[in-house]
Amino acid sequence: MTTPLFNRMALIGVGLIGSSIARAARAQGVVRSIVATARSGPTRARVAELGIADRVVDTNAAAVDGADLVILCIPVGQCGAVAAEIAPRLAPGAIVSDVGSVKAAVVKDVAPHIPAGVHFVPAHPVAGTENSGPDAGFPELFIDRWCILTPPEGTDPAATDKLATFWSAIGANVETMTPEHHDLVLAITSHLPHLIAYTIVGTADELGRVTRSEVLKFSAGGFRDFTRIAASDPTMWRDIFLANRDAVLEMLGTFGEDLSKLTRAIRRGDGDTLFDLFTRTRAIRRGIVQIGQDSDAPDFGRPHQRKLPPLPRPYMAEGE
Ligand code: NAP
Repeated sequence: MTTPLFNRMALIGVGLIGSSIARAARAQGVVRSIVATARSGPTRARVAELGIADRVVDTNAAAVDGADLVILCIPVGQCGAVAAEIAPRLAPGAIVSDVGSVKAAVVKDVAPHIPAGVHFVPAHPVAGTENSGPDAGFPELFIDRWCILTPPEGTDPAATDKLATFWSAIGANVETMTPEHHDLVLAITSHLPHLIAYTIVGTADELGRVTRSEVLKFSAGGFRDFTRIAASDPTMWRDIFLANRDAVLEMLGTFGEDLSKLTRAIRRGDGDTLFDLFTRTRAIRRGIVQIGQDSDAPDFGRPHQRKLPPLPRPYMAEGE
């Protein structure tokens, strides 16, 4: 990109997502300068040390001074209070966005604080890892991942377009939908899977009081894939479940009914029901790989030992 899209981008919160945005925006030259801040002194010091922003400042209000793009990269539960803090210092014509994993609650908490003449365009990059903090970010995080924009009614379409261009420039595919629709879709594709992972790992931990070493030792049987999701940041996920309560409860109701059907099938020895469902779910996995949303490498591409160990001498055949 020859002319930067934005003159000054302010990042409030520089964890996994904020630091990935900083790295990607700089690599692509989409912003002329980056000002960053975080809640704690140690995080701000680390961001300065990493050199991923041009300036690191101590307060959220100071960060937004003169910025034409402000992105809140903080837990969703913090967005309302931070919006109130920055509102008086927002420059006319600026775009304010966020990256929260829940949208309706963020719109409800943030929109009332946005002054006239400032554009609020909420966003959710559907990309991440189980790691947090400024060191966890990397510039390629958003490549070929979706970024969902959820502009509230009445948002200037030019502001939405400009933010869409920003996300495309750092690698994402962009889609626009209402905040409510976003929350319903993400409840099933992200929030419920996390809840299930947290439950399974929690249950295994309870059982682990009896069989702890076995749970860890035999985790490759499937358990360890849940542990990756269940290692996600506790603050972020607490806030997501509280903020998207209605959609999650709706999906949990449906999930509970489906789980009961499977329980009944197992109890009755109804193999056809199990087989039919497992066939359908396998096709869904193939579909995800086909549209490039995951690798087709077996076992998620984990490295495996290439050589079998040499046979111990006492087990070798006679005469060898
Ligand atoms: P993170 O790594 O834990 O970073 C959060 C950052 O926010 C930290 O720099 C933290 O500063 C700062 N912060 C918290 N409260 C603040 C406040 N009141 N004022 C200023 N800074 C504050 O979190 P993350 O994974 O980047 O997630 C950030 C947001 O992205 C969340 O809303 C989440 O829903 C969304 N999201 C996450 C993922 C994912 O996979 N992680 C994916 C998509 C969207 P300190 O370190 O000083 O506390």
